[in-house]
Amino acid sequence: MIQQAEEILKNIFGYRTFRPLQREIIANLLHRRDTLVVMPTGGGKSLCYQIPAQIFTGLTLVVSPLISLMKDQVEQLRAFGVEAAVLNSTLAAEEYRRNTALVTSGEARLLYLAPETLLMPRTLELLAGIRVDCLTIDEAHCISEWGHDFRPEYRQLAAVRTRFPQAVCAALTATATPRVQEDIRACLRFEASNTFIDSFDRKNLFLQIVPKSDPFRQTRHFLKRFPDQSGIVYCTARRQVDELAERLAAAGYSVRPYHAGLADEERRCNQELFIRDDIQIMVATIAFGMGINKPNIRFVLHHDLPMNIESYYQQIGRAGRDGLPAHCLLLFSYGDIRKIRFFIGQKAEPEQRVADIHLNALIGFAETEECRRGPLLRYFGEKPAAAACGACDNCTNGKKAPDDITIPVQKFLSCVRRTGERFGAGHVIDVLRGSQGQRVVQLGHDRLSTYGIGTELSKKEWFFLSRVCLQKGLLAQDPEHGGLRLTPEAWEVMRGRQNVAGRLWEEREDPGSRGPERRDFDEELFGELRILRKELADALEIPPYAVFPDRTLMEMAAYLPQTEEGLLHLHGVGRVKLDRFGRDFLDTIREFCALHGTGQAVATAPAPAPDKRPASGRARGPRHLEIAVRFNEGTSVARLAEEYQVKETTILAHLHKALVQGFPLDKQTPLPELPHLSETQRTAVKEAFQRLGTERLGPLFAALNREIAYDDLHLLRLRYLLGV
Ligand code: ADP
Ligand code: ZN
Repeated sequence: MIQQAEEILKNIFGYRTFRPLQREIIANLLHRRDTLVVMPTGGGKSLCYQIPAQIFTGLTLVVSPLISLMKDQVEQLRAFGVEAAVLNSTLAAEEYRRNTALVTSGEARLLYLAPETLLMPRTLELLAGIRVDCLTIDEAHCISEWGHDFRPEYRQLAAVRTRFPQAVCAALTATATPRVQEDIRACLRFEASNTFIDSFDRKNLFLQIVPKSDPFRQTRHFLKRFPDQSGIVYCTARRQVDELAERLAAAGYSVRPYHAGLADEERRCNQELFIRDDIQIMVATIAFGMGINKPNIRFVLHHDLPMNIESYYQQIGRAGRDGLPAHCLLLFSYGDIRKIRFFIGQKAEPEQRVADIHLNALIGFAETEECRRGPLLRYFGEKPAAAACGACDNCTNGKKAPDDITIPVQKFLSCVRRTGERFGAGHVIDVLRGSQGQRVVQLGHDRLSTYGIGTELSKKEWFFLSRVCLQKGLLAQDPEHGGLRLTPEAWEVMRGRQNVAGRLWEEREDPGSRGPERRDFDEELFGELRILRKELADALEIPPYAVFPDRTLMEMAAYLPQTEEGLLHLHGVGRVKLDRFGRDFLDTIREFCALHGTGQAVATAPAPAPDKRPASGRARGPRHLEIAVRFNEGTSVARLAEEYQVKETTILAHLHKALVQGFPLDKQTPLPELPHLSETQRTAVKEAFQRLGTERLGPLFAALNREIAYDDLHLLRLRYLLGV
């Protein structure tokens, strides 16, 4: 049976080998042993039940708490040619019927449901007459009160199990401490329980923490490194999210906000834009991320401190699910800690203690001088494999042990004291450095004992030191006037009872070794393939990554395959996707190769290329031009769609491509009927084309309040460009 699983892996999903543990987990499920899977985000949990689902005769139920995630999974499965259905409270009656029909007819291999939907009598009735072979519980930590996301309806799933006595149960989660694991097994009554725990170490994530000094500047500086690449910026408060999103948008970034304070519709729309690569950056509160499966998130920036290590880990876990490198930066400030402490103070007593312990663990993680993976993995009960990971700031900075900075700190604190604990750092520094400035003289501060005792450090260094004092809680700042005052801890230092370790100069924000990585694929072709992918995805109304993940496009741009056989060797290309999309991608690659001479000359493939034939053997012209010629001969769009076995919209997209590449289209050939639109809608469409351009339909779709379907937009765009 495992052989069958391997064939599905290759032929349907187009992956070459199983990831760690996948094979064992699949084998275990096929032997009908209940299985608990603890694997980090991006580890490849879905495949663990999606493959057995295609081998079992009966249905596989997948319980998942997030409706948007279910939809996404179903879309991705269908793109692979695997039939799946979804049932939840948001479906319209018609859709609901269609989905139940897929289940009763036995076409659907998998059925995704929200827990409350599964518990509904009508669902249980529907399933009573059907053979269910596997009950999968995704996000299984929701069962446990010890987890960070307890959901009461999950508890009742245990009872549902008894209704499907022959079904094997798979429980999956990305975050589970040993305590939560125990809880899941106990609650689901796993008897022959088999637990598979993958390492929590996400090796492709680069972890970095820097002191937060000027967060907006730091954010922009960071974003510069990821042109065109997807990422999330997390803030604590909704207001901050709105503000930052606005400022970034004003600075020219393609960005949207996301938080629980937005209207449902707007939230959904923003999420969709992000998933479909129509916007680059999501600025969000922790409300964002649970429901998304986007594999090509290249960075996560924590603008503010998360509440604890679990949420931090979960949030950074959204980056790099595709296994390619991703960067996680946290801006750390002691001010944020005070804010979190304040929140914690509002909780009830026992909760307060737990939250406090969690927060302290996070602070320890942020302050550590050792490899970041040390405290992180230990927190999840795992022993780090090596003392240094080579993929965190502490491992790559060449950080020295901190210096003893007690003396300058004492000087600074005394000067704060002598000037009356009323002034900001600027004035204190002037006094320390013996400034002759008017204010210093007027206030008589040039006669203080601390006047001029700090000439050994530059102004900048003193400023940095003042922040260190704030961060270490030696100084507090008046929130209104910015005046600095001493805290009780400061007296300990001034009296020489406590030393201070730290640095006098900020670490460089970017570890120098991590410039943009040398790409071993052709960036220009990659860009073109991305545009093609976006077009195809929009036409099908699915996210681009459901067409192919980034890695597939990178491999195409590295190996330049010229044949279907060549494509099949690439990551993520299975039979169905090859049939559906292969030709379009091959056309683009061939065109590119023809333009740049032979295939081999352009790429420096990192590994033996599966197919590197030069482009000279090209059989046909590019498909879109072929279609344009046929169109100009008078072949209708409907006819072409039939001949090429694609949707009419795809034909329209090809015609559009030909047109923008300068191939004139004959206005005599009739285009499909215009959809019925109100006068206002017509004006809005035209106005939107003028304002937003016609290159990409995603932004137009959003600007038109999602009222006009993509299919219609394709037609309207072509007519607009042709003036017919
Ligand atoms: P999880 O649910 O654990 O967060 P997913 O199941 O979403 O992770 O998988 C993450 C990504 O890895 C997906 O894009 C998936 O297609 C890919 N993937 C999973 N298994 C493999 C494999 N054996 N080889 C290559 N890619 C894989
Ligand atoms: Zn490290």
